[in-house]
Amino acid sequence: RRYTDKQWWDQEAFQSFFPKRKENSHKGMHGRGLVIGGNHLMPGSVMMTTKAAVRSGAGLTTMGTSKAVISMMASSCNESMYIPIQEQDGYLSDASEIDYSAYDAVAIGMGIGREKVTHQLIQNAITAVKGILLIDADGLYHTKEQLHVLPSRQTPTILTPHPGEFASLLDVSISEILQKPFSYSKEFAVKYGVYLVLKGKFTIITAPTGRQVVESGGNPGLAKGGGGDVLSGIILAMVMQDQPIFEAICNACYLHSASADNLVKEKHSVYDLTATDIIEGIPNALRTLT
Ligand code: AMP
Ligand code: MG
Repeated sequence: RRYTDKQWWDQEAFQSFFPKRKENSHKGMHGRGLVIGGNHLMPGSVMMTTKAAVRSGAGLTTMGTSKAVISMMASSCNESMYIPIQEQDGYLSDASEIDYSAYDAVAIGMGIGREKVTHQLIQNAITAVKGILLIDADGLYHTKEQLHVLPSRQTPTILTPHPGEFASLLDVSISEILQKPFSYSKEFAVKYGVYLVLKGKFTIITAPTGRQVVESGGNPGLAKGGGGDVLSGIILAMVMQDQPIFEAICNACYLHSASADNLVKEKHSVYDLTATDIIEGIPNALRTLT
């Protein structure tokens, strides 16, 4: 039985949608994902997203960033491929040479910064990406002036703001968002035709239809730099697997939380837990959940 009407995402829901890996599967069946992000001052975030995607079952993962960040980071993930993106003074500026049609899904924005030169990159991705597009972190900052373009995208768009990022997209205060997270999320997701993941202790996932699910796992160990970058990588991998996209997003949130919760039970505390630990906790979470 599939739990299509659940409002709280739990293990039963996770298991009823999580795809079985077929015995004769090959990498082409598990998606080609591209992660674009990073700048000379934040090279690690895009790497964490990339590693999380690799760890979560993506078939082929490519990281797109500046040449400098590639040479800094490439040796820490052997499984990924790398493509250079044009930069100005260390900030990504133009990916119009990238053939987005080679990817089933693209995650963009982590560690990208808020420089004006990066505007064009996000603007271009919104129209040029023909697969699933996930926008996170500073990518959301650059999306603010492009929101009106989102409804015309022909493929799913996923936005993953924390309350501060969502508040600035909407031009309201964080406390207003926290008072009415469900109605702000729903209004936004329906208006712009996007999947919205409003992150926090209670993560609210909203579909463009207005359907909403809460994922309440995880712990304060996640409240650190990098926690959200890891989630983006897991979502990227999950939406390329064989399950409906809304449920794939819910499952990604669940897996992210389960990794953090298992780690705090078994070998870490909420103080020392890092985003890198959460990536390393994915194997155990997957083994126990699937
Ligand atoms: P970001 O703010 O982009 O780094 O994302 C932080 C990630 O950690 C999101 O997935 C949040 O849902 C999760 N998170 C942050 N704080 C908590 C908390 N106190 N309890 C559970 N999850 C949390
Ligand atoms: Mg973040």
